[in-house]
Amino acid sequence: MKWTNDRSGNVEDRRGSGGGGGLMVGGGLGTLIIAAIVFFLGGDPSAILSSGGNAGPQTEQRDLTKDELQVKEFVSMVTAETEKTWGKIFQENGMQYDPPKVVMFESVTQSGCGTAQAAMGPFYCPADQTVYMDMSFFQELQQRFGAKVTEFSIAYVMAHEIGHHVQTLLGTTQKVDQLRASGRYSEADMNRVSVATELQADFYAGVWAKQTDNREHILEPGDIESAISAAEAVGDDNIQKRSQGYVNQEGFTHGSSAQRRDWFMKGYNTGDIRQGDTFNALLK
Ligand SMILES: [Zn+2]
Repeated sequence: MKWTNDRSGNVEDRRGSGGGGGLMVGGGLGTLIIAAIVFFLGGDPSAILSSGGNAGPQTEQRDLTKDELQVKEFVSMVTAETEKTWGKIFQENGMQYDPPKVVMFESVTQSGCGTAQAAMGPFYCPADQTVYMDMSFFQELQQRFGAKVTEFSIAYVMAHEIGHHVQTLLGTTQKVDQLRASGRYSEADMNRVSVATELQADFYAGVWAKQTDNREHILEPGDIESAISAAEAVGDDNIQKRSQGYVNQEGFTHGSSAQRRDWFMKGYNTGDIRQGDTFNALLK
C-alpha cells in the first residue's frame, strides 16, 4: 500500500495510563528493598536480582520501537483516509460523517465499554465512539493466527473497526442492541445477528478500500490478498480450530473465514454501501 503523507488522522497515544507502568515501578522498588535486606543479612543480592522482578523501574511512556512507531504512523494515515472516504460517501447520501476517536494503548486501558485489554484484540466501542487498538496486536495476528501481516492487512483491520462506527452512525448498532435487549431471541439467533454485524463491517472495509483506491490509487499488487489473508485468519472457524481444536458453527459470532473473505470482496467489487445487507442475506 502506498503511503499518502499529506494528512494524518488524530490517534491518541494512551500507553502507560492503564496502571501497568505503576506496577512496574513498584516491582523495581521491591527488588531494591529485597536486595538491601539480603545485603544486610549477608546473602548474595545478585541471586535475587536475577531471579525475576528485575525489569527495573520503567518510565510511564517508553519510546516506541521502530516497528511500533511505523504501525502508529500507519494507523494514523489510515484513520485520515477513512475520514476522507466516509466523509465523501456520507455527503453523497445527504448525511454528515463524524469520525470516531482512535486510541492506541499497551496492555490495558479504560474504555466506554469497560476495561480494554490487549488480549481482546482491536475493538470499537459505540458508547464513546472510539476504536481501541493495542500496540502488540499485529505481532499477535502474525504469531497466533498465522496471518501474513502487511501494511494493507493493518489497513483492513482498521477499516473493519471503522465499519462498526459507520454502523453506529447509521443506527444499525442501536437496532441490534434493541434485538438483544428484547430478550425474544435465543443465544443462537443472537450469534447469527452478531455474525451479520461483523460481516457488514468487513463489507464496509471493502467499500472503503475500493473508494479510497479510486481516489488515491493506494493499492499495490498483493494488497487485496493480504487483506483477505487477515480476514480469513480472524474467521471464527480458524480461531476455534486453533483454540479448541474443532469448529462449532452455532458458536460463531464473526463469521467463517470464507464468509469474511466473501463479504470484504463484495464491498471491494461493488464499492456500493447499498449492497451490504448482510442481515437479510443471513437471517432469512
Ligand atoms: Zn468486528
